[in-house]
Amino acid sequence: MSARIIDGKAIAKKLKAEQRERVQRMVSEHGVRPGLTVILVGEDPGSKVYVRNKIASCQEVGIRSQKLEFAADISESELLDHIDKLNADPTVHGILIQLPLPKHIEMHQVLERISVEKDVDGFHLYNVGGLVTGNTVFPPCTPYGVQKLLEHEGIDVEGRSVVVVGASNIVGKPMALMLMQQDATVCICHKKTRDLAQFTILADILVVAAGVPGLIIPQMVRTGAVVIDVGINRLPDGRITGDVDFEGVRQKASYITPVPGGVGPMTVTMLLHNTIESANRSLIQNTAPILRSDSRIT
Ligand code: NAP
Repeated sequence: MSARIIDGKAIAKKLKAEQRERVQRMVSEHGVRPGLTVILVGEDPGSKVYVRNKIASCQEVGIRSQKLEFAADISESELLDHIDKLNADPTVHGILIQLPLPKHIEMHQVLERISVEKDVDGFHLYNVGGLVTGNTVFPPCTPYGVQKLLEHEGIDVEGRSVVVVGASNIVGKPMALMLMQQDATVCICHKKTRDLAQFTILADILVVAAGVPGLIIPQMVRTGAVVIDVGINRLPDGRITGDVDFEGVRQKASYITPVPGGVGPMTVTMLLHNTIESANRSLIQNTAPILRSDSRIT
């Protein structure tokens, strides 16, 4: 068997074309252009690249974007003041704090200062709670991207056995919750899981987000499984690789995502989606999405 390769880059491109049209309609019919502000604190080179990509992607689909850059020694209270101003600005529909923040700033204080309605990363505790209870406001972008990839390929998760390797707050845990909401049977593994293979081998769908190159080898994968590799690791020679032995596992899996070109392009695409969605909600002046009874993420 040789797996079908899920082309995240192509799927992201298609979704962005749809987003561009949606933005154009919002502008021409309602005079509202979605706006995203990205806050960058300090000089971390990786963060700068991520922010640059996010701003460029906004431009691609017509979202108004703004980058606020602050020195690493900005005080927490000054940063909170900036967030208050953005919360009050009706032209800003999404606010994103590029993580990590410098150590002297309490990350949760900052994330929770963002208005829930503008928390397009989905990291505010209220949004996390919404995900837990099935009242999702904004699904976190990376797991949302995985969900969209599965949907695009027509892979149904209902009743399937899903194993998520990685239990972080930004990928593993929200991924597991989102799949549970779709009636999958979900198992979460982490660093202290004993004999990882005895869990992964049971997976109809295996989502790997550990940050460990080559963690998943063919012997750990069930024949015909769907394998989603979220990992992004830079090797000593500069190459980027995922957490899955791609060449080996693709011989056993039915579907597999490559790295790069799989989940990665979807993350920023879902950030754009959440920003447009936020603008749309403000347009119809509907606060109900926060309390909507529909427990499914669409
Ligand atoms: P993280 O915060 O470091 O979390 C890694 C998780 O994997 C933790 O839960 C950890 O367990 C678990 N883990 C580590 N080694 C393991 C092992 N040997 N066996 C089983 N579980 C193990 O990382 P993250 O932010 O979730 O990111 C994970 C990976 O996804 C990274 O490579 C990151 O670059 C990538 N990523 C990609 C995207 C994208 O857009 N494609 C977005 C975000 C992240 P403990 O909880 O026990 O420590």
